[in-house]
Amino acid sequence: MMRSLVLLFSSIALIGAAPAPAPAPVPAEPYAQLRQIVAPVSGAEMKKTVEKLVSFGTRHTLSSQTDPKRGIGAALTWTDGQFKSFGLPTLRQCDTVTGKRVPTPTRICDMVAIQRGTERPNDVVIIQGHIDSRVTDILNSTSDAPGANDDGSGTAAVIEAARILSKHKFPGTIVYAALSGEEQGLYGGKILADYAKAQGWNVVTVLNNDIIGNSCGSDGVCDDTHVRVLSEGPRSQGEVDLMAATHSLGGENDAPSRNISRFLDGLADHLNIGLDVRQIWRTDRFGRGGDHIPFLELGFPAARLSVAVENYNWQHQDLRTEKGVVYGDTIDHMDFNYLEKVAKLNIAAIAAIASAPPPPEPKVEGAVSTDTTITWAPVSGASYYIIRWRPTDANQWTRSLPVIRVGGHCMKGAPADCETGGKGGYSATLEHIRVDDWVFGVSSVSKDGFESPVASAVPGGAFKPYVAPEKKP
Ligand SMILES: [Zn+2]
Repeated sequence: MMRSLVLLFSSIALIGAAPAPAPAPVPAEPYAQLRQIVAPVSGAEMKKTVEKLVSFGTRHTLSSQTDPKRGIGAALTWTDGQFKSFGLPTLRQCDTVTGKRVPTPTRICDMVAIQRGTERPNDVVIIQGHIDSRVTDILNSTSDAPGANDDGSGTAAVIEAARILSKHKFPGTIVYAALSGEEQGLYGGKILADYAKAQGWNVVTVLNNDIIGNSCGSDGVCDDTHVRVLSEGPRSQGEVDLMAATHSLGGENDAPSRNISRFLDGLADHLNIGLDVRQIWRTDRFGRGGDHIPFLELGFPAARLSVAVENYNWQHQDLRTEKGVVYGDTIDHMDFNYLEKVAKLNIAAIAAIASAPPPPEPKVEGAVSTDTTITWAPVSGASYYIIRWRPTDANQWTRSLPVIRVGGHCMKGAPADCETGGKGGYSATLEHIRVDDWVFGVSSVSKDGFESPVASAVPGGAFKPYVAPEKKP
């Protein structure tokens, strides 16, 4: 490891670097901390949660909001009580909507808990699932719709995340959300995304968990060692404005959503929980959708987690047996050991991202040059940064260079106000590395070694919503 670092350093010149920067400090092992945090995550606890959710009979968005025992209202109120029992303040965010799948004006509410960050409360990471359920007829709000896996599993992971992480403190804010109205048209996701925008939250990551608790498909294929992470390619927000720049400079595989996918893939390798990420490079399953999409449309980075093998007999179905085939989303079809693993990955990711500063917004130059220069502005809370790069056709970052700023030591070439924490930027030149052949990105690292997802230095790569440059009249 050290050897490759030395080799990398020898091929790199930081602008004006004389003498060479101090060697990288050995960060506290963040993965050991994350493994410790997720150790108590419990499939048995989540089974209790799913049993409770199923006990409301139906959680259809158009079901009763006032019945104390049956329907969406009772389920939301129970979830509120769970969050409060962990000492978290809650918010019931609602909107009244009408639509193709909502024939009359209906109040749709999310149940949200907020764990305020101790240092950077405006930097927000969101873990969410949808609490509403359905059967075959999308407008049937009275039949039993257990929604054990779709999406009792995601809701249980959200509540388990709140139970586990509320015992710890994090520099950034964590938002736990049980969303409604997903099956009727992603309404709950839109309600929360709109709220995040109105509050001016700097949303660093949204992890949308939808169908994460079964390990066997309808064709008998089973897989309990993978989870799919679905991410968009060119970012949907600002796509038209970004198109020309993307054609010229690249970035088809570098929206922040995709870098969240890479982050989860890398993280899973360090958790030793018997779970690998299968990165699926499309926004959602073929022709289908989920509650991460309203966030993407507003420019917030978001990805969906879902099982490796879906079972289509066990979702969106009336409870019945036909020609010996059992249909319906019931709890006996779930695999809680598998759900525990997916929840552990989620909870480790949330803890890691809430511990790390947000990524910077790097820019890259180097056209018609044998060198590549990367620049970025300082990020509050970052002790140092890591430049990462990869061949254009590689799915994961393959090379890295830590750029150090520890204990007031600023990199040579940093602007004069760096030492005093000024607003100046950083600049690093990678010699003999041609910009044509690589994709570059930069991550921020906290003083205790927690690294943010990488932000790619491409059009539309920033984790902040894209803002089109003002057009000249
Ligand atoms: Zn769902």
